[in-house]
Amino acid sequence: MELGGYADRVARIDLTTGDIKYEGINEEDARKYIGSRGLGVKWVFDNGPKIDPLSPDNIICFLVGPLTGTDVSMSGRMTVVTKSPLTGTVTDSHHGGWSGARLKWAGFDGLVFKGKAKQPTYAYVEAGKVELKDASDLWGKGAHDTIKILQKRHGKDVSVVTIGQAGENLVRFAAWMNENDRASGRGGTGTVGASKNLKALVIKAAEKLPKPKNREAFKQAHKDALKAINEDATLAPRKGGLSVYGTNSLMMAVNAIGALPTKNAQFTSFANAFNISGHHIQQSILVDNPTCHACPVACKKEVETEPGKFHVHMESVEYESAWGFGAACNNDNRDSIPFLIDLCNDYGIDTIEMSNVLAMTMEASEKELIRERVSWGDVDKMVELVHKTAKREGIGNTLAEGTERAAKAFGDPSIAMTVKGQAIPAYDPRGLKGMGLAYATSNRGACHLRGYTTASEIVGVPEKTDPLAWKGKGALLKLFQDFQALSDSLGVCKFSTFAENPGHYAAQYSAMVGVPMDADAILTIGERIYNLERHYNNLAGFGEGSDTLPARFLNEPSQSPSSQGHVCELNEMLQEYYELRGWVNGVVPEEKLKALQII
Ligand code: SF4
Repeated sequence: MELGGYADRVARIDLTTGDIKYEGINEEDARKYIGSRGLGVKWVFDNGPKIDPLSPDNIICFLVGPLTGTDVSMSGRMTVVTKSPLTGTVTDSHHGGWSGARLKWAGFDGLVFKGKAKQPTYAYVEAGKVELKDASDLWGKGAHDTIKILQKRHGKDVSVVTIGQAGENLVRFAAWMNENDRASGRGGTGTVGASKNLKALVIKAAEKLPKPKNREAFKQAHKDALKAINEDATLAPRKGGLSVYGTNSLMMAVNAIGALPTKNAQFTSFANAFNISGHHIQQSILVDNPTCHACPVACKKEVETEPGKFHVHMESVEYESAWGFGAACNNDNRDSIPFLIDLCNDYGIDTIEMSNVLAMTMEASEKELIRERVSWGDVDKMVELVHKTAKREGIGNTLAEGTERAAKAFGDPSIAMTVKGQAIPAYDPRGLKGMGLAYATSNRGACHLRGYTTASEIVGVPEKTDPLAWKGKGALLKLFQDFQALSDSLGVCKFSTFAENPGHYAAQYSAMVGVPMDADAILTIGERIYNLERHYNNLAGFGEGSDTLPARFLNEPSQSPSSQGHVCELNEMLQEYYELRGWVNGVVPEEKLKALQII
């Protein structure tokens, strides 16, 4: 293949027969969809939108992009793409660390698994070859033990990407975890792996940076992007923001504007937010600041909690998880937060969905919809319910179905803070209007990472907008969705979008791959990817009127001083957004598909 940056190798693995076929990258698809998320979505689309996500016919793809594992800053991402058993949409879920870079260095752009193995299996990947190995001894083990055993067997320097017991028990929101405690958490991609008896990937590879097509242009493009990162208020190493406080630097800011969903979003601010904030954690239990491949930011926050029942030493306390097990559940016990996150990491559970299902169960208990007593902020009960969910024991068997299905089973779907079957992250649409539109129109169910308008509404990137204003949020969100489809498809961390603009991406892509590209042209690729996902979802049954929000955000005004009286004006924003997208009430018309060269 002519294009640089790619390994130009994909393995298609049939787990039913054990057959493994190797092929090059389809150059036309690579030009149209880049790689990682974009190419994965194309492969899942080609596999058909109507299939049962947990049937052997579904495929699960592990991908990297043309910039993954290169010198490009923050380029250590791996992407998992499949049809979600939680939402029924196409889903993509990304993690950092070194596993993405190692997959590229091991000679692959992607691994595609189909079928179902007769017995638990793991895939060993090295030097352009994939070998299927027996994982019977690993089945039943948590992610932490699985990683330890596989690193002992294959060497400390391998990456391991694995599911835990939650996936094995087909909890609908099971995650893939790697050796750096990074998760591909959302959408139940781990559940799909487990349904195929696929326990883990082991990737062995030494650093082998891909050569750019245009070395001089690449050096300059890389330098420009790095300068932007080093000068950015959110990303600059050791200057505050993500580097010092991690993603949990947001807790106090989001709380202050009355946009922190509290007690299952019955309220929009949490009186004790400081106790669970990145600022408090940084001052009290922080022990290190780990990073990912080629990243000067080091936003990961390694902590060790006090000795006692919640003692734990773990690598990553993210804002979303701290909010979910904290404010959403009315819990201000600092040490319980890393403990609960670590427990979920070991079981291989999405912390956002798990914490939402707990908050919803607390409301169900308060409303006496269920017999089980689950009080707000009862951390011991929360721990018990995580165990029960992962093992599908007792009420845990219902919780394992996810927030939306469990609320329905409890008799009141209105207490599920979900969109298209997936639970919300840590931003209340009554105090951050753009996020309401982002949740409703996300192609993988409620999500902050498809279009992060918070960057504008709080941080002022690319320009400051009023979090309580709805006008103009359609255009803002479209830009973010198209732009962030690019970072996911190039194989770089989404946080780079705080400092880098589409021009930075275009210059780095162009120099690495050897295809001339400017900011507008690369944004059109992002738009194409977003529309392909939407087209898949339309064909999978998400037709007109599917872009909605929980009624609570539309009808129950915020009571916090900063967002007092506000609800989310979703319908107004949707009209603006659909017009810009060229969609008909959420459906991509044929002329739009043709204009974007999707069909
Ligand atoms: S900003 Fe954080 S998540 Fe992104 S690459 Fe750097 S350390 Fe990893």
